[in-house]
Amino acid sequence: MTVSNIKTETTQPEPVRPSNFIRDTMIDDLKTGKYNNRIWTRFPPEPNGYLHIGHAKAICLDFGLADEFGGGTNLRFDDTNPEKEETEYVDSIMTDVRWLGFEWEGLYYASDYFQQLHDWAVQLIKAGKAYVDDLSADEIRRHRGTLTEPGKDSPYRNRPVEENLDLFARMKAGEFPDGSRVLRAKIDMASPNLNMRDPVMYRILHAEHHRTGDKWCIYPMYDYAHGQSDSLEKITHSMCTLEFEDHRPLYNWFIQALGIFPSQQMEFDRLNLTYTLLSKRKLLQLVQEKRVSGWDDPRMPTLSGIRRRGYTPQALRNFVANIGVTKTNGTIELAMLEHFVREDLNRSAQRVMAVLRPLKVVIDNYPEGRTEEMEAVNNPEDETAGKRKVPFTRELYIERDDFQEVPPKGYFRLSPGKEVRLRYGYFITAQSVVKNAQGDVVEVHVTYDPATHGGNAPDGRKVKSTIHWVSAAHAIHAEVRLYDNLFHKEDPNDVPEGQDFTANLNPNSLEVVTDARLEPSLANAAAGERYQFERLGYFCVDPDSKPGALVLNRTVALKDTWAKKQAR
Ligand code: ATP
Ligand code: MG
Repeated sequence: MTVSNIKTETTQPEPVRPSNFIRDTMIDDLKTGKYNNRIWTRFPPEPNGYLHIGHAKAICLDFGLADEFGGGTNLRFDDTNPEKEETEYVDSIMTDVRWLGFEWEGLYYASDYFQQLHDWAVQLIKAGKAYVDDLSADEIRRHRGTLTEPGKDSPYRNRPVEENLDLFARMKAGEFPDGSRVLRAKIDMASPNLNMRDPVMYRILHAEHHRTGDKWCIYPMYDYAHGQSDSLEKITHSMCTLEFEDHRPLYNWFIQALGIFPSQQMEFDRLNLTYTLLSKRKLLQLVQEKRVSGWDDPRMPTLSGIRRRGYTPQALRNFVANIGVTKTNGTIELAMLEHFVREDLNRSAQRVMAVLRPLKVVIDNYPEGRTEEMEAVNNPEDETAGKRKVPFTRELYIERDDFQEVPPKGYFRLSPGKEVRLRYGYFITAQSVVKNAQGDVVEVHVTYDPATHGGNAPDGRKVKSTIHWVSAAHAIHAEVRLYDNLFHKEDPNDVPEGQDFTANLNPNSLEVVTDARLEPSLANAAAGERYQFERLGYFCVDPDSKPGALVLNRTVALKDTWAKKQAR
């Protein structure tokens, strides 16, 4: 894992604007003094995987809104499933939240509340509002009924309180095997809301917990643990995704039955992205089956993956602010996320020249052995970024694509007899080519016009194209990893009959270019640094880099109108 050497990037998070129904509710609650002018939220990940872009939306909302109203946010690990949870995930989640630019007020674990949750369960049993059920999970399911039919009472539903207390104590003491009994809330088996049909509160699981070890062999269910944890932390607005809307009556039922702090649950739309799967379970499968190199593979939609890819926290925050929140689920185009990445990197990334597929150019009339230091602008969007010197010599590399011996119509880059500008260099005109035995062009001979030093002709003469280059003698070799969508299908959940979602994996999602040449200013580039390779896109130095052996990831390409035109 590479999370350890990640710097925290701190720029102030933007408030979530324009307004939305959650923000409006907060404003109302502040007006009416509902929570004594206090706004407190929580971000409650289950530590069963790495965070993904969907979580970034929840994080920006939870932290962003609380910040805006002078409140705070707790980070709470919802660790009630001992079998799936690990400390590695806990650590990665903390790294990722901080990387996004947020800091929590309180750090909690649902497992901190196991004793309190147990005591409250006893309180509910005593009040006749919970009972131990001996039915199996299957039988419980069969008794639950359907959307159109009411459920049936369990034969154990009306057990006396004393018997329930005794059985629950023995469940806790480890007397019964997994799955043999559960504790259920006694609500309404005929409720039109299936969640209210005596939901399970506790199950027996003789499993080692990553924090509480073997202290417990009964574990609370999400619905019972979540709202009560919110209440214990005096969370005012508990935001979650829309699939929990039908759970809200239950959330409120527990709070009312126990007479505890009235946290309120509010639901918003889950983020879905085209060509992307946002489900920890499926992402875990990709890692376990080695379809990707790990949770932080730059093709993964995890925060650790996109960080390694070169996405910035600012870009993510801008994206989330822009998509807003609604009450209906939809799908956002991946291209929109990429737009915000480009926009942010355009503002901040240092420009350099790099050639991915080198073709040698020899300037026949340029003096041998001479090196000129050409002045290059570091970032046209940011004057304070200054200038740098790039060595120019008689032998250069240009992009193989930037030369065509027989140019198609509309091709304005280098070809025999055509004049183009070398960026920050000179005007050159192609004269002749050298080919190998297979007939491929391996070298282009050109002449330059010494009067065009810096890239401008004193006589005002124009060229139709400017191309990038690096000096052959000075260039640094590097490996560059080019990424395409991990899934080739717009909706990767749409799976062919009889196959699983991995059938939609794009076999060409990774292309490794092993012989790229970079300008020498990149010699000491450090992992995590981001650059714009002029005309090619944004690139980020990968932690696989070693001294003298740089590895870069393409974060996102620049728009290429030529490629678009060709595609038509
Ligand atoms: P997954 O299905 O990927 O495991 P989850 O909802 O089970 O996601 P949790 O760890 O329980 O993951 O999520 C923590 C918080 O992040 C929850 O409040 C959840 O609603 C929110 N969240 C998870 N996925 C998304 C998403 N795609 N868009 C917005 N919020 C999300
Ligand atoms: Mg979950």
